[in-house]
Amino acid sequence: MSPEQFSQAVLTWYDSHGRKDLPWQQNINPYRVWVSEIMLQQTQVSTVLGYFDRFMHALPTVKALAEAPEDEVLHLWTGLGYYTRARNLQKTAQRVMSEHGGEFPRDVEQLTALPGIGRSTAGAIASLSMGLRAPILDGNVKRVLARYVAQEGYPGEPKVAKQLWDVAERLLPQSRVNHYTQAMMDLGATLCTRSKPSCLICPLQSGCQAHLLGLEIRYPIAKPRKAVPQRRTLMPLLHNRAGEVLLYRRPSSGLWGGLWSLPELEDIAALDDLAAQHQLQIGQRQALAGLSHTFSHFQLAIEPWLVQVERAPSAVAEADWLWYNLATPPRLGLAAPVKKLLKRAADALATTATIGEPA
Ligand code: SF4
Repeated sequence: MSPEQFSQAVLTWYDSHGRKDLPWQQNINPYRVWVSEIMLQQTQVSTVLGYFDRFMHALPTVKALAEAPEDEVLHLWTGLGYYTRARNLQKTAQRVMSEHGGEFPRDVEQLTALPGIGRSTAGAIASLSMGLRAPILDGNVKRVLARYVAQEGYPGEPKVAKQLWDVAERLLPQSRVNHYTQAMMDLGATLCTRSKPSCLICPLQSGCQAHLLGLEIRYPIAKPRKAVPQRRTLMPLLHNRAGEVLLYRRPSSGLWGGLWSLPELEDIAALDDLAAQHQLQIGQRQALAGLSHTFSHFQLAIEPWLVQVERAPSAVAEADWLWYNLATPPRLGLAAPVKKLLKRAADALATTATIGEPA
């Protein structure tokens, strides 16, 4: 399909199937289009309908919005979520009044300089309400175009996004840009849906690369998963003959802040230093099965060791260290994997029947 054939197919489809009765498609002006575009970000058309009417009724012009009390704007937005959108909406209205004499600039670059207006929203305002030849690339259109050209790479990457913007520009028609823009949004929302595109009734079917390859769902390419960094640590479960395990309280800030945890060592050779620090006489030691714990930004591989303490001072000398009784556990905040390891230690010791023997 040539770019002309593409836009013609889209426009023909719009004439018979495009939505023409949405409230922001009536009495079209930049203010109404802009408010609808901001409301439609992260929100479905069906939800926006009622909000849009109430908003326009209360604040029918950019001047009314600029001069409204912030509480009134937030009240009209209540339930739509993402309240930064509402605050930016009012900031933009105030700037349109103070910097542009109450008229939205007829220029995509100047529109994107206003708070909360990205390139795609600016393109929608410019094309839908001003008839300017400006492309859009919202989520729906991005999906249609990524499939149409079988765009490789994740569109969140600037290089890939630029390629898709270039495609969007190339395919823009010379006239009826407003209908074309609306049609592209509708196509993405109704036919070229995320998981079940209706390719058989799609006007772009004959030129759509993803469809020709039978790989519609592969596009747009999903965000690549980052390899999670790995860390390892060794945690000794130092247990005395009373069935108690040595724990310490972690500093209040940082990982597991303020929770009780097992000591951590670089390797098993460092155990002697720990024993000396607490005046412990160490006996048998035994490696237990490893444990993996996932944090939001890394994976921790824990190497647990069960270590018999033959003799220990009657009390722990340092604050933030204690002997934790496995049979009658005190009510303490424990890190999740530590809790698991203490359970394992209790099971292992129960089988060797050492718990409860005199210290
Ligand atoms: S043919 Fe299918 S995948 Fe291609 S644009 Fe149409 S609906 Fe989307």
